[in-house]
Amino acid sequence: MPHDAPSAPMSAPPSHGPDLNPNDLLRTTVDPAPPAGVTIRQVRAICTAPAGINLVVVRVDTSEPGLYGLGCATFAYRAHAVKDVAERYLDPLLRGRDVHRIEDLFRIMMANAYWRNGPIQNNAISGVDMALWDIKGKMAGMPVYQLLGGKCREAAAVYRHADGGSPGEVLDNVLGYMAQGIRHVRCQMGGYGGKSARDLAPAGAQPGIYFDPQGYARDVVALFDHVREKAGDGVELLHDIHERLAPMEAVRLAKALEPHRLFFLEDPLPPEQPEWFRILRNQAAVPLAMGELFNNPVEWRALVAERLIDYIRVHISQVGGITPARKLAAFCEQFEVRTAWHGPGDVSPVGHAANLHLDLAAPNFGIQEWAGFNEQTREVFPGCPELRGGYAYVREAPGLGVDLDEAKAALYPPDEGVTAWTQTRLPDGSPAWP
Ligand code: MG
Repeated sequence: MPHDAPSAPMSAPPSHGPDLNPNDLLRTTVDPAPPAGVTIRQVRAICTAPAGINLVVVRVDTSEPGLYGLGCATFAYRAHAVKDVAERYLDPLLRGRDVHRIEDLFRIMMANAYWRNGPIQNNAISGVDMALWDIKGKMAGMPVYQLLGGKCREAAAVYRHADGGSPGEVLDNVLGYMAQGIRHVRCQMGGYGGKSARDLAPAGAQPGIYFDPQGYARDVVALFDHVREKAGDGVELLHDIHERLAPMEAVRLAKALEPHRLFFLEDPLPPEQPEWFRILRNQAAVPLAMGELFNNPVEWRALVAERLIDYIRVHISQVGGITPARKLAAFCEQFEVRTAWHGPGDVSPVGHAANLHLDLAAPNFGIQEWAGFNEQTREVFPGCPELRGGYAYVREAPGLGVDLDEAKAALYPPDEGVTAWTQTRLPDGSPAWP
């Protein structure tokens, strides 16, 4: 009998199958997989914070001594929950299965809890999926980009983040990056949503991170007036609204920024408001980037197919790993939508490497966000991708090219505190999306 064949018909969900034996439907195990070459021996997750941001890395060990893979499962603010899903649920599900069958295992993992496409579980699946691609590359003796079709380019152009308290400070940071050969810079002033607006709140207002959407929208236009005038046209400028405006305010800001020829405007609307993109699209000739909060293919399908965005920027450690991301890139290619995978500090170097392998192989690659690694992170993750000039390079090695020193990772335990930066509020004290 095939290892995954049920002993009772499973064609109907439990509540609709009165002729089925309930004991079969409630079983939590299936017959073990037959040995098939190299198999999965263990799935573990390691939490570490060498840069002060929680990272989650999944390690998949195989029946072949010394052969293992690493994947990024980072959900910085629910790190232990992701680790628990990987070790308590995916490890027993996957032990003994054939490491070669990535597509099959992706479906098995996605379906196993019945409910699917949510945060935490998707992160854990992403970690396993990337680790399986890492293993496949190691077995083939090839970098993962070769398995994806080979290089379209030698390295990925990146954008860096410039912030500051005033237009002059932001400009100085932009010029500093330009001097390093960086040609794409995201400009923010005072963080997402601008400067604190705590002093506008009524008496007794709740604690939180206050911002003023109107003040922010005015300041950001003044910022780009200044930076574009002083930095000139030799640099591509980007901005992230981070869903901090009401939809029509975002439309108005996009129109106001039109003369500054942004490379893209990011997250102008929250993921719950995809229909607003049609209105925004009809109002402003500004390239739009969207997607770091997406979990599910239905969240991006219409935006891409209706050409309502220009750049897709999902968090690959969130959507399920390389397996769904490579399909998403190919889907976007059909509509002239380019990739700009999420690459902030809450993606591990393993996740950044996965981004880059996709970047190298995708004809419709656009730009790669690049947060950079500190010295401690580079020590914990030997083989980190490298930034030279305005380009990021992967290590030319089989698999993803990044390793994990677990002894060093243990020196940087994850932060156990309550997440503060997402507790955002409007001037009247009401809660807002972060
Ligand atoms: Mg963003």
